[in-house]
Amino acid sequence: MKISADAYPTTVEMPRTLSAIHNLRNQHNRIISGGTILQINWEAGVEKPEHLISTEKLSELKGISEVQLDGEPALKIGAAMTISDCLHNISIQKNASILAEACEKIAAPAVRNRGTIGGNICSKIGDTIPALLVLEAQLSFYNGEQENMISLREWLTKPNPPSSELLTNIYIPIHTLNKPGSSFFRKIGRRESFTAAIISIAGYIEYEENNIKTARLAIGGGSHLPCRLSIAEKEINKAANGIDWSFLSQVIQDDFSSYTDPFITVEYRKKVAANLFIAWIKDILKEQGKE
Ligand SMILES: Cc1cc2nc3c(=O)[nH]c(=O)nc-3n(C[C@H](O)[C@H](O)[C@H](O)COP(=O)(O)OP(=O)(O)OC[C@H]3O[C@@H](n4cnc5c(N)ncnc54)[C@H](O)[C@@H]3O)c2cc1C
Repeated sequence: MKISADAYPTTVEMPRTLSAIHNLRNQHNRIISGGTILQINWEAGVEKPEHLISTEKLSELKGISEVQLDGEPALKIGAAMTISDCLHNISIQKNASILAEACEKIAAPAVRNRGTIGGNICSKIGDTIPALLVLEAQLSFYNGEQENMISLREWLTKPNPPSSELLTNIYIPIHTLNKPGSSFFRKIGRRESFTAAIISIAGYIEYEENNIKTARLAIGGGSHLPCRLSIAEKEINKAANGIDWSFLSQVIQDDFSSYTDPFITVEYRKKVAANLFIAWIKDILKEQGKE
């Protein structure tokens, strides 16, 4: 279906199936889900595209379920599910609680009811991304002909998302569920609620005989391109029997590419990130009787 008006020259397409999408690869097309970011951009003067492809009625982008992915259990989350859908979903709360925590920290309820997890990811700055990075999420994209799978981590390293690729589903492996581990998500803003993040961080740690076996740390928020802190992760993984905390703090700060803006310096962001990660890891080790 196409809607157009002379006063609003952008046309909107609302396909019900992937195969009904009209020319996804046209560079003048733009995918729209909740529109909460796009609307802010347009209000700020960004030019509107000629043609919008809405995900609202795409049944392939709906639903949250437990599935098998390469023979392993995984959570499948439709890209058009709203942040509120994800926040209140029992399976996400049970299998990927830090994603629910991240969703709880996004905006106010009205925006969460409209904004989608797909739009949050495709913005490349959304607060769900650090949580999804430590959960080792995989993404499936439809390119107009077929769906392809890519890890979120790899996708983030690619140049700006091409509008010709539609995010259809997010997959989170849940085979780690029965292993002993801890995870956490923390968003630091300039005030208590509904505010843009200075940083958002997520961590996941798995232990074996009370020692840290695997550590995954991720950081994003603000205008950061979210990423895993792979050098810091290696430092924790190899230091099973004793961590040099001041060295680890320095490694985290060096591993995190940040920026200064009129309100916050790069040094402050790096220090806060290192302190949060270290306080969390120390708490875990204390719980395990290791500190
Ligand atoms: C007042 C306010 C407060 C906010 N606070 C936060 C916050 O605290 N944390 C946070 O992370 N965000 C925040 N946001 C931003 C936004 O609401 C969320 O990130 C939301 O999840 C975006 O989803 P959307 O569906 O509205 O995206 P849209 O605006 O529809 O799209 C965003 C981008 O993703 C692309 N896109 C959308 N869906 C797809 C898809 N399926 N495949 C490919 N590309 C796609 C669009 O082309 C566009 O480039 C806030 C926004 C507002 C207005």
